[in-house]
Amino acid sequence: MKTRSLLMFLLLVCLPAACQCKGPTRGGSDASGPMTEQRTTVKKPAVKKVPQKEPVNPSRCYICRRDLNPKKGYGYSERGHRWHLSCAKGRQRCAISGLPIPRNKMITLRGLTFYEDDYHRTEKCSVSGLPLINQGRYKINSRSGTKVLSKFVHLTKRCVSCGDRTQEGIIVNKRRFSCQFCADSYNTYKTNAEKFLVDVQAFFRSKELPTPEIQLKIAGFEAGLSETTKGLCKTNSVTSRGKTTYTHTIFILSHLNQDTFRAVLAHEYMHAVIARSGKEFSNKESEGLCELTSYFYCLSRKAPKYVIETITKNEVTLYREGFEMMKGRYLELKDHIK
Ligand SMILES: [Zn+2]
Ligand SMILES: [Zn+2]
Ligand SMILES: [Zn+2]
Repeated sequence: MKTRSLLMFLLLVCLPAACQCKGPTRGGSDASGPMTEQRTTVKKPAVKKVPQKEPVNPSRCYICRRDLNPKKGYGYSERGHRWHLSCAKGRQRCAISGLPIPRNKMITLRGLTFYEDDYHRTEKCSVSGLPLINQGRYKINSRSGTKVLSKFVHLTKRCVSCGDRTQEGIIVNKRRFSCQFCADSYNTYKTNAEKFLVDVQAFFRSKELPTPEIQLKIAGFEAGLSETTKGLCKTNSVTSRGKTTYTHTIFILSHLNQDTFRAVLAHEYMHAVIARSGKEFSNKESEGLCELTSYFYCLSRKAPKYVIETITKNEVTLYREGFEMMKGRYLELKDHIK
């Protein structure tokens, strides 16, 4: 009998993992669509001090915290924790751990009950505040790294600029949604966007590419822009006495955050360079080359990973395949247009 209880005790002490609330697993995430998994790079917001997982103490009642006396046989154990049967009677269970919730430690949210400590130490859905654990699939916003349970995604809007799904932001021109981050970023550069053009030109110069003059305009959908076409380069050419003169206007969608703006600008600027190169490209080749240029520009300027992934994992097949095709030619950017 003694050996048995010793064995039982060891089992309970050695196997606390069985009752721990594990964080959400990869299998639980829904990385489909524009929101890609960025677990490794996304900076988590400063984590508040969360209660530590209390160690399993099989000799103390999980609910009333008083000592159990196993000899008297009224202890009850489940998943390593033990409690007086009378204490557990009628108690609500925690939606995270499944264990009875100790007295005065209950939180109720959206019809679910949680043990306070378990609730505070688990990652939450940014919309509902519910823990991600045991609530089905969720999406990960690639810019901010915040997570949204799939069942609450319909309450969010997708930011035109960064693709994050959130509730906080602004509606532009009654049609476009911009998350607060991107709207704020736009407000800091909108009157001074030319500085990014100067930087893109510096990049082109460093790659021994031409740096034509262009007119830069920040515009809305009325200029022919859309959620997928965030930029547009219009080129006019006039040939007189055998000499061709080009004028370029680049339109870029308003309310993009600065990283997206710069990526789009580098893409459109390459269209201007291609237009005056005289080189014949298919649509896929020219879009691919502009994407490749933007890709190298973003890498050189240490753009955030999600911006680079909008190029490498572009939802639009033509752009993605064009990018891969031109990248696969292993040429210097300047040699593509020779
Ligand atoms: Zn008790
Ligand atoms: Zn955004
Ligand atoms: Zn393009």
